[in-house]
Amino acid sequence: MSIEISHVGKRFADFVALDDVSVSIPAGRLTALLGPSGGGKSTLLRIIAGLERADTGRVEIDGVDATALPPQQRNVGFVFQHYAAFKHLSVRRNVAFGLEIRKRPTEEIRRRVDELLALVHLEQFGDRLPTQLSGGQRQRMALARALAVEPTVLLLDEPFGALDAKVRKELRDWLRRLHDEVHVTTVFVTHDQEEALEVADEIVVINEGRVEQIGSPDDLYDRPANEFVMRFLGPVTQLGDQLVRPHDLRLAVDPADGVPGRVSRITRIGFEIRVEVTTADGQSVTVTLTRNEFLALNIETGTDVRLRIAPDTPTTQLSTHAPTLRTALTPTH
Ligand code: ATP
Repeated sequence: MSIEISHVGKRFADFVALDDVSVSIPAGRLTALLGPSGGGKSTLLRIIAGLERADTGRVEIDGVDATALPPQQRNVGFVFQHYAAFKHLSVRRNVAFGLEIRKRPTEEIRRRVDELLALVHLEQFGDRLPTQLSGGQRQRMALARALAVEPTVLLLDEPFGALDAKVRKELRDWLRRLHDEVHVTTVFVTHDQEEALEVADEIVVINEGRVEQIGSPDDLYDRPANEFVMRFLGPVTQLGDQLVRPHDLRLAVDPADGVPGRVSRITRIGFEIRVEVTTADGQSVTVTLTRNEFLALNIETGTDVRLRIAPDTPTTQLSTHAPTLRTALTPTH
Protein backbone atom coordinates (compact mmCIF):
# COMPACT_ATOMS: atom_id res chain seq x y z
CA MET A 1 0.00 0.00 0.00
CA SER A 2 1.39 3.39 -0.90
CA ILE A 3 1.50 6.24 1.59
CA GLU A 4 0.97 9.81 0.46
CA ILE A 5 1.98 12.55 2.86
CA SER A 6 0.93 16.02 1.70
CA HIS A 7 1.96 19.30 3.30
CA VAL A 8 2.15 17.89 6.80
CA GLY A 9 3.04 20.32 9.58
CA LYS A 10 3.50 19.60 13.29
CA ARG A 11 4.39 21.89 16.18
CA PHE A 12 5.10 21.09 19.80
CA ALA A 13 4.23 24.40 21.51
CA ASP A 14 6.42 26.91 19.62
CA PHE A 15 8.74 24.29 18.22
CA VAL A 16 8.24 23.37 14.57
CA ALA A 17 8.91 19.61 14.39
CA LEU A 18 7.66 19.21 10.79
CA ASP A 19 7.33 22.00 8.29
CA ASP A 20 5.26 21.39 5.15
CA VAL A 21 6.45 17.84 4.56
CA SER A 22 5.29 16.07 1.39
CA VAL A 23 6.49 12.54 0.64
CA SER A 24 5.17 9.73 -1.56
CA ILE A 25 6.09 6.33 -0.17
CA PRO A 26 5.71 3.69 -2.87
CA ALA A 27 3.87 0.44 -2.23
CA GLY A 28 5.88 -2.67 -1.45
CA ARG A 29 9.17 -0.83 -1.04
CA LEU A 30 11.57 -0.43 1.84
CA THR A 31 11.85 3.29 2.57
CA ALA A 32 14.23 4.87 5.08
CA LEU A 33 13.56 8.13 6.88
CA LEU A 34 17.12 9.30 7.43
CA GLY A 35 18.46 12.33 9.23
CA PRO A 36 20.16 13.70 12.30
CA SER A 37 18.69 13.43 15.77
CA GLY A 38 15.77 15.74 16.44
CA GLY A 39 15.09 16.30 12.73
CA GLY A 40 11.51 15.00 12.88
CA LYS A 41 11.80 11.43 11.59
CA SER A 42 10.02 9.77 14.50
CA THR A 43 7.33 12.44 14.51
CA LEU A 44 6.62 11.73 10.86
CA LEU A 45 6.55 7.97 11.49
CA ARG A 46 4.17 8.46 14.42
CA ILE A 47 1.91 10.60 12.22
CA ILE A 48 1.83 7.79 9.62
CA ALA A 49 1.01 5.34 12.43
CA GLY A 50 -1.73 7.55 13.84
CA LEU A 51 0.00 7.89 17.22
CA GLU A 52 0.41 11.60 16.62
CA ARG A 53 -1.95 13.95 14.78
CA ALA A 54 -0.62 16.38 12.17
CA ASP A 55 -1.61 20.03 12.72
CA THR A 56 -1.91 20.59 8.99
CA GLY A 57 -1.80 18.47 5.86
CA ARG A 58 -3.03 15.04 4.92
CA VAL A 59 -1.97 11.40 5.18
CA GLU A 60 -3.35 8.88 2.70
CA ILE A 61 -2.77 5.16 3.03
CA ASP A 62 -3.61 3.20 -0.08
CA GLY A 63 -5.59 6.10 -1.49
CA VAL A 64 -7.75 6.47 1.62
CA ASP A 65 -7.62 9.62 3.76
CA ALA A 66 -6.17 8.36 7.05
CA THR A 67 -5.37 11.79 8.55
CA ALA A 68 -7.91 11.41 11.35
CA LEU A 69 -8.02 7.62 11.67
CA PRO A 70 -6.92 6.02 14.96
CA PRO A 71 -3.96 3.60 14.72
CA GLN A 72 -6.08 0.44 14.93
CA GLN A 73 -7.99 1.44 11.83
CA ARG A 74 -4.85 1.94 9.75
CA ASN A 75 -3.68 -1.66 9.68
CA VAL A 76 -0.08 -0.72 10.43
CA GLY A 77 2.46 -2.80 12.36
CA PHE A 78 5.16 -1.15 14.42
CA VAL A 79 8.47 -1.96 15.99
CA PHE A 80 10.33 0.49 18.19
CA GLN A 81 13.93 0.61 19.35
CA HIS A 82 13.20 -0.41 22.91
CA TYR A 83 10.63 -2.98 22.14
CA ALA A 84 8.27 -3.73 25.01
CA ALA A 85 7.53 -7.45 25.01
CA PHE A 86 5.17 -9.14 27.45
CA LYS A 87 7.86 -10.49 29.74
CA HIS A 88 5.71 -13.14 31.39
CA LEU A 89 4.51 -14.58 28.06
CA SER A 90 6.47 -17.00 25.88
CA VAL A 91 7.82 -15.92 22.51
CA ARG A 92 4.94 -17.83 20.87
CA ARG A 93 2.34 -16.02 22.93
CA ASN A 94 3.96 -12.68 22.23
CA VAL A 95 3.81 -13.35 18.49
CA ALA A 96 0.24 -14.66 18.79
CA PHE A 97 -0.95 -11.69 20.80
CA GLY A 98 -2.50 -9.62 18.00
CA LEU A 99 -4.24 -12.70 16.58
CA GLU A 100 -5.60 -13.68 20.01
CA ILE A 101 -7.15 -10.30 20.65
CA ARG A 102 -8.73 -10.52 17.21
CA LYS A 103 -10.17 -13.87 18.35
CA ARG A 104 -8.86 -15.86 15.42
CA PRO A 105 -9.42 -19.65 15.58
CA THR A 106 -6.81 -21.50 17.67
CA GLU A 107 -5.66 -23.70 14.81
CA GLU A 108 -5.16 -20.72 12.50
CA ILE A 109 -3.15 -18.94 15.22
CA ARG A 110 -0.94 -21.98 15.72
CA ARG A 111 -0.23 -22.30 12.02
CA ARG A 112 0.42 -18.61 11.53
CA VAL A 113 2.75 -18.38 14.54
CA ASP A 114 4.71 -21.38 13.25
CA GLU A 115 5.10 -19.66 9.89
CA LEU A 116 6.18 -16.40 11.47
CA LEU A 117 8.69 -18.00 13.81
CA ALA A 118 10.20 -19.76 10.79
CA LEU A 119 10.26 -16.52 8.85
CA VAL A 120 12.27 -14.76 11.56
CA HIS A 121 14.38 -17.87 12.28
CA LEU A 122 13.13 -18.36 15.81
CA GLU A 123 11.56 -21.80 15.40
CA GLN A 124 13.66 -23.16 18.25
CA PHE A 125 12.79 -20.38 20.65
CA GLY A 126 8.98 -20.37 20.76
CA ASP A 127 8.77 -21.62 24.33
CA ARG A 128 11.33 -19.26 25.79
CA LEU A 129 10.54 -16.06 27.60
CA PRO A 130 11.64 -12.82 25.89
CA THR A 131 14.24 -12.26 28.63
CA GLN A 132 15.89 -15.51 27.53
CA LEU A 133 16.57 -14.13 24.04
CA SER A 134 19.46 -12.01 22.81
CA GLY A 135 18.75 -8.41 21.77
CA GLY A 136 18.77 -9.33 18.10
CA GLN A 137 16.45 -12.29 18.64
CA ARG A 138 14.10 -10.06 20.61
CA GLN A 139 13.92 -7.59 17.74
CA ARG A 140 13.15 -10.43 15.35
CA MET A 141 10.38 -11.55 17.68
CA ALA A 142 9.07 -7.97 17.63
CA LEU A 143 9.01 -8.05 13.83
CA ALA A 144 7.18 -11.38 13.85
CA ARG A 145 4.64 -9.92 16.24
CA ALA A 146 4.17 -6.85 14.07
CA LEU A 147 3.76 -9.02 10.96
CA ALA A 148 1.31 -11.42 12.63
CA VAL A 149 -1.75 -9.35 11.91
CA GLU A 150 -0.74 -8.94 8.26
CA PRO A 151 -0.33 -5.19 8.32
CA THR A 152 -0.45 -3.37 5.01
CA VAL A 153 2.28 -1.08 6.30
CA LEU A 154 5.18 -1.89 8.61
CA LEU A 155 6.73 1.00 10.56
CA LEU A 156 10.07 0.55 12.28
CA ASP A 157 11.56 3.25 14.51
CA GLU A 158 15.30 2.62 14.86
CA PRO A 159 14.50 -1.07 15.31
CA PHE A 160 18.13 -2.10 15.65
CA GLY A 161 19.41 1.05 17.32
CA ALA A 162 20.11 -0.45 20.71
CA LEU A 163 22.14 -3.39 19.41
CA ASP A 164 25.86 -3.77 18.89
CA ALA A 165 27.36 -3.14 15.46
CA LYS A 166 27.71 -6.78 14.41
CA VAL A 167 24.15 -7.78 15.32
CA ARG A 168 22.87 -4.59 13.73
CA LYS A 169 24.57 -5.49 10.50
CA GLU A 170 23.17 -9.03 10.57
CA LEU A 171 19.65 -7.79 11.25
CA ARG A 172 19.92 -5.20 8.51
CA ASP A 173 20.79 -7.88 5.94
CA TRP A 174 18.08 -10.04 7.35
CA LEU A 175 15.48 -7.24 7.16
CA ARG A 176 16.38 -6.76 3.50
CA ARG A 177 15.88 -10.46 2.78
CA LEU A 178 12.68 -10.58 4.82
CA HIS A 179 11.33 -7.65 2.88
CA ASP A 180 12.22 -9.30 -0.41
CA GLU A 181 10.09 -12.25 0.75
CA VAL A 182 7.03 -10.48 2.13
CA HIS A 183 7.05 -7.17 0.19
CA VAL A 184 5.05 -5.31 2.80
CA THR A 185 5.36 -1.52 2.43
CA THR A 186 7.95 -0.73 5.08
CA VAL A 187 9.14 2.58 6.47
CA PHE A 188 12.04 2.63 8.90
CA VAL A 189 13.65 5.46 10.80
CA THR A 190 17.40 5.60 11.11
CA HIS A 191 20.07 8.20 11.74
CA ASP A 192 22.67 5.80 10.35
CA GLN A 193 23.46 6.67 6.73
CA GLU A 194 25.23 3.38 6.11
CA GLU A 195 22.15 1.48 7.27
CA ALA A 196 19.90 3.50 4.96
CA LEU A 197 22.26 3.21 1.98
CA GLU A 198 22.63 -0.54 2.41
CA VAL A 199 19.07 -1.53 3.11
CA ALA A 200 16.61 0.93 1.61
CA ASP A 201 15.07 1.13 -1.85
CA GLU A 202 14.22 4.77 -1.24
CA ILE A 203 15.63 7.27 1.23
CA VAL A 204 13.90 10.38 2.52
CA VAL A 205 16.43 12.74 4.12
CA ILE A 206 14.81 14.79 6.88
CA ASN A 207 16.52 17.63 8.68
CA GLU A 208 15.10 20.32 10.94
CA GLY A 209 11.55 19.34 10.10
CA ARG A 210 11.99 19.52 6.33
CA VAL A 211 12.60 17.05 3.55
CA GLU A 212 16.05 17.71 2.08
CA GLN A 213 15.90 15.07 -0.67
CA ILE A 214 14.07 11.90 -1.69
CA GLY A 215 15.70 9.31 -3.90
CA SER A 216 17.39 5.97 -4.31
CA PRO A 217 20.64 5.37 -2.40
CA ASP A 218 22.58 6.00 -5.62
CA ASP A 219 20.73 9.24 -6.32
CA LEU A 220 21.50 10.58 -2.89
CA TYR A 221 25.07 9.41 -2.71
CA ASP A 222 26.12 10.39 -6.22
CA ARG A 223 23.79 13.29 -6.86
CA PRO A 224 23.02 14.96 -3.53
CA ALA A 225 20.63 17.90 -3.92
CA ASN A 226 22.56 20.09 -1.55
CA GLU A 227 25.57 20.26 0.69
CA PHE A 228 23.69 19.00 3.74
CA VAL A 229 22.75 15.74 1.99
CA MET A 230 26.22 15.37 0.55
CA ARG A 231 27.91 15.71 3.94
CA PHE A 232 25.32 13.65 5.78
CA LEU A 233 25.54 10.72 3.37
CA GLY A 234 29.22 10.15 3.77
CA PRO A 235 32.71 11.54 4.06
CA VAL A 236 33.58 14.50 1.87
CA THR A 237 36.96 16.03 1.23
CA GLN A 238 37.75 19.23 -0.55
CA LEU A 239 40.20 19.85 -3.37
CA GLY A 240 40.34 23.44 -4.50
CA ASP A 241 36.72 24.51 -4.47
CA GLN A 242 35.24 21.05 -5.18
CA LEU A 243 33.76 18.67 -2.72
CA VAL A 244 34.40 15.06 -3.49
CA ARG A 245 34.19 11.71 -1.79
CA PRO A 246 37.60 10.47 -0.53
CA HIS A 247 37.30 7.17 -2.37
CA ASP A 248 36.63 9.01 -5.62
CA LEU A 249 40.12 10.44 -5.45
CA ARG A 250 42.80 8.42 -7.17
CA LEU A 251 46.49 7.88 -6.68
CA ALA A 252 48.41 7.28 -9.91
CA VAL A 253 51.99 6.09 -10.24
CA ASP A 254 52.90 7.93 -13.43
CA PRO A 255 54.03 11.49 -12.99
CA ALA A 256 51.52 14.02 -14.19
CA ASP A 257 50.51 17.58 -13.66
CA GLY A 258 48.37 18.28 -10.68
CA VAL A 259 48.15 19.95 -7.34
CA PRO A 260 51.38 19.36 -5.40
CA GLY A 261 51.14 18.07 -1.85
CA ARG A 262 52.80 15.94 0.78
CA VAL A 263 51.41 12.86 2.55
CA SER A 264 50.78 14.03 6.11
CA ARG A 265 49.08 10.98 7.58
CA ILE A 266 48.22 7.39 6.71
CA THR A 267 45.50 5.59 8.66
CA ARG A 268 44.25 2.06 8.22
CA ILE A 269 40.50 1.66 8.68
CA GLY A 270 39.44 -1.94 8.23
CA PHE A 271 40.25 -2.87 4.66
CA GLU A 272 40.74 0.72 3.54
CA ILE A 273 43.68 3.05 3.81
CA ARG A 274 43.05 6.72 4.37
CA VAL A 275 45.79 8.99 3.07
CA GLU A 276 45.78 12.62 4.09
CA VAL A 277 47.69 14.98 1.83
CA THR A 278 48.52 18.56 2.65
CA THR A 279 48.64 20.67 -0.47
CA ALA A 280 51.14 23.50 -1.01
CA ASP A 281 48.51 26.03 -0.04
CA GLY A 282 47.82 24.23 3.23
CA GLN A 283 44.60 22.41 2.33
CA SER A 284 44.15 18.94 3.79
CA VAL A 285 42.77 16.46 1.24
CA THR A 286 41.73 12.92 2.15
CA VAL A 287 42.03 10.03 -0.28
CA THR A 288 40.66 6.55 0.46
CA LEU A 289 42.47 3.60 -1.13
CA THR A 290 42.16 -0.15 -1.07
CA ARG A 291 45.09 -1.96 0.48
CA ASN A 292 46.31 -3.11 -2.94
CA GLU A 293 46.13 0.36 -4.42
CA PHE A 294 48.07 1.65 -1.45
CA LEU A 295 50.80 -1.00 -1.67
CA ALA A 296 51.19 -0.43 -5.41
CA LEU A 297 51.91 3.25 -4.82
CA ASN A 298 54.66 2.72 -2.27
CA ILE A 299 54.07 5.96 -0.40
CA GLU A 300 54.61 6.91 3.23
CA THR A 301 54.23 9.93 5.45
CA GLY A 302 56.33 12.72 3.94
CA THR A 303 56.19 11.47 0.34
CA ASP A 304 55.66 14.28 -2.15
CA VAL A 305 52.68 13.57 -4.36
CA ARG A 306 50.48 15.24 -6.87
CA LEU A 307 46.74 15.37 -6.89
CA ARG A 308 45.36 15.40 -10.35
CA ILE A 309 42.08 15.06 -12.15
CA ALA A 310 41.58 11.55 -13.47
CA PRO A 311 38.84 11.47 -16.08
CA ASP A 312 37.84 7.82 -15.81
CA THR A 313 36.38 7.33 -12.33
CA PRO A 314 32.85 8.01 -11.16
CA THR A 315 32.66 10.80 -8.69
CA THR A 316 30.23 12.58 -6.48
CA GLN A 317 28.95 16.00 -7.26
CA LEU A 318 26.15 18.15 -6.11
CA SER A 319 23.43 17.64 -8.66
CA THR A 320 23.28 21.38 -9.24
CA HIS A 321 27.02 21.54 -9.66
CA ALA A 322 29.18 21.88 -12.70
CA PRO A 323 31.49 19.35 -14.26
CA THR A 324 32.46 16.00 -12.91
CA LEU A 325 35.75 16.10 -11.10
CA ARG A 326 38.08 13.15 -11.17
CA THR A 327 41.20 13.34 -9.13
CA ALA A 328 44.32 11.27 -8.86
CA LEU A 329 47.38 11.39 -6.68
CA THR A 330 50.79 11.03 -8.25
CA PRO A 331 53.80 10.36 -6.06
CA THR A 332 56.84 12.31 -7.21
CA HIS A 333 59.53 10.19 -5.55
P1 ATP B 1 15.84 11.03 16.97
O1 ATP B 1 16.68 10.38 15.90
O2 ATP B 1 16.67 11.67 18.05
O3 ATP B 1 14.73 10.18 17.49
P2 ATP B 1 13.97 12.40 15.25
O4 ATP B 1 14.46 12.92 13.94
O5 ATP B 1 13.19 11.15 15.22
O6 ATP B 1 15.15 12.31 16.26
P3 ATP B 1 11.68 13.52 16.52
O7 ATP B 1 11.64 12.51 17.62
O8 ATP B 1 10.68 13.45 15.45
O9 ATP B 1 13.12 13.58 15.86
O10 ATP B 1 11.62 14.94 17.19
C1 ATP B 1 11.64 16.15 16.43
C2 ATP B 1 11.66 17.32 17.38
O11 ATP B 1 10.39 17.43 18.02
C3 ATP B 1 12.68 17.19 18.49
O12 ATP B 1 13.31 18.43 18.70
C4 ATP B 1 11.86 16.79 19.70
O13 ATP B 1 12.44 17.28 20.88
C5 ATP B 1 10.53 17.42 19.42
N1 ATP B 1 9.43 16.62 20.00
C6 ATP B 1 9.09 15.37 19.63
N2 ATP B 1 8.01 14.95 20.35
C7 ATP B 1 7.70 15.96 21.19
C8 ATP B 1 6.69 16.15 22.19
N3 ATP B 1 5.79 15.19 22.43
N4 ATP B 1 6.68 17.32 22.84
C9 ATP B 1 7.57 18.29 22.57
N5 ATP B 1 8.55 18.18 21.65
C10 ATP B 1 8.61 17.03 20.97
